[in-house]
Amino acid sequence: MNHTSMQKTAIVIGTGAGGAMMAKELQGPYKVTILEAGGSFRPFSFNVNNLAKLRKSGLYFDERMIRMLLPNMLVEKSQDMVMVRGIGLGGTTTLATGNAVRCDGALKELGIDLDEPFEELYASLPITTEHRQHWSKATEKMFGLFERMGLEPQVTPKLLRHAAGCIECGHCAIGCPVGVKWDTRELVDQAVAAGAELITGCRVTGLDIAGGVVTGVEARHRGKKETYRADLIVLTAGGFGTPVILENAGIPVSRTLFVDPVLCVAGPLPGIRQDRQILMPFISQQDGCILSPYMDYLSFFFNRDWRMPMQDIASIMIKLADDETGSISARAIDKQMTASDQRRMEEAVLICREILRHMGVPDDRQFLGTLNAGHPGGMLPLTAREKDSLHSPVLPDNLYVADATILPRSMGNPPILTIMALAKKIAGRIRS
Ligand SMILES: Cc1cc2nc3c(=O)[nH]c(=O)nc-3n(C[C@H](O)[C@H](O)[C@H](O)COP(=O)(O)OP(=O)(O)OC[C@H]3O[C@@H](n4cnc5c(N)ncnc54)[C@H](O)[C@@H]3O)c2cc1C
Repeated sequence: MNHTSMQKTAIVIGTGAGGAMMAKELQGPYKVTILEAGGSFRPFSFNVNNLAKLRKSGLYFDERMIRMLLPNMLVEKSQDMVMVRGIGLGGTTTLATGNAVRCDGALKELGIDLDEPFEELYASLPITTEHRQHWSKATEKMFGLFERMGLEPQVTPKLLRHAAGCIECGHCAIGCPVGVKWDTRELVDQAVAAGAELITGCRVTGLDIAGGVVTGVEARHRGKKETYRADLIVLTAGGFGTPVILENAGIPVSRTLFVDPVLCVAGPLPGIRQDRQILMPFISQQDGCILSPYMDYLSFFFNRDWRMPMQDIASIMIKLADDETGSISARAIDKQMTASDQRRMEEAVLICREILRHMGVPDDRQFLGTLNAGHPGGMLPLTAREKDSLHSPVLPDNLYVADATILPRSMGNPPILTIMALAKKIAGRIRS
C-alpha cells in the first residue's frame, strides 16, 4: 500500500455509472478500494444467424438463459417484465447502447443543480453524433418519416471513442466487439492507475452498523466470507443491487422502484438490415416515453413471434417513464405495469404501428416484443430536504448511495450521463 497513514480510506461497491465515477473522483483524497461482484466483461462472441437456427428447436425457452451466451447479462423476472442488468466491470454501462442524454429535470425540481458536473462530463467524455455518417438508407428514411409525422426525432448523442471506427454490427447492447463504444471501465482503469485497489468477484452482502456509522462491509469473495473496513462507504450496486444491501443492513428503502419498461413494435421488412445499424441512432421524445429504432435481442431469441431472419425485421422501441411502484428484495422483484403505465404504453404502440404501416408493414403482420426493462432505480429517492447534503437521513453518516437508487423518479430516458453527473456532485460534496 502506498497511501500515507493520514490518507482516509473509502470503499466503493460496484463499477457501473455511479460506482466507477465515484472511484475515480475519490481516489487521491481517499485511498479507494473497489468491491465488484463480477469480473471482466466479455462481449457476445457468437454468430447470431447460427444461433438463430436453433430457435425452432425450442432450445431458447427462458430469457434467463441469455447468460449462457452473455455471462455479464443478468436477467430476472417480475410478474410481467423481464429485468436486465449488467454484472461485472463497467456494470450495466457495458450493455448500454451508448446514449448520452442529459435528463436531470426531476433533480432540478428538487433544487439540485448539475450544470457544473455536466459541463465537466461534456468536456471529458467522447460524446458525438457523428455516427450519422454510417446510417443506412433505411435509417435515414425512417428518420425522415419520423420528421414528417411530427415526431421530432433527434440524432442521439453517443458515447463513442471514434465514430468512424464503428463497424455497424448492431451489437451495442451485447458488447461492442471493437471497443468503439465508451463505458465506465475506462473510469475504473483511471482510478486504479491513480492507486485504487480493485477487488473483483466480491459480492457485498451486508453492512455492519454500530453507533450510527458503518463499521464493516460484509462480502463473499471467491467463496469466502470477508469483512472490509474503511472510513467512508459508497454504495453503487445499481437500482437492483443497492436496495437489497440496504435492506440486509436494516436500512429502510421505499417501494418506489421504477424500471423504464421497454416494448418493441416490429414487423417483417425484407432486407431492411436494421440489425446492421447502431442501436437507437435517433430518439423521438414523446410525453412520458421515447421512441427509437432498436433491435431487441431478447425478443429475437426468446419470443416466438420474432422467428424470422433478423435482417428482415423492422423494430421500434418504446421506453416508458413508469409509475414508481414496486420493489426488489433478496427474494424477488415485485414490479408490474400500473393501469396508467399500460394505457400510456398502448398509446405509444399505436404511434409505432402507424410508423411501421408507413414503412410498408401492414397491421396484420406487425408483432410486439417481450416487455423488458433495464433502468432500475428510485428506491431511496432524493428529496428537496437533501438537495445540499445529497445524503439520505436514513443512512449512517459515513455511508453514501450514488447510483440510480437515489433518482427521484423514472425519466423514461437513458440515465447514465445523469447518474455520472450526480455521482460527480456527490464526490465533490464528500471531498469538501
Ligand atoms: C440493454 C441496456 C441498454 C442500455 N442503454 C443505455 C444507454 O444507451 N444509455 C444510458 O444512459 N443508459 C442505458 N442503459 C441503462 C444504464 O446502463 C443503467 O441505468 C446504468 O448503468 C445504471 O447505473 P448504476 O450505477 O445505477 O448501476 P450499474 O451500472 O448497473 O452498476 C452496478 C454495479 O454494481 C455491481 N454490483 C451489483 N451488486 C453488487 C454486490 N452485491 N456487490 C458488489 N457489486 C455489485 C454490478 O456488477 C455493477 O458493476 C441501458 C440498460 C440496458 C439493460
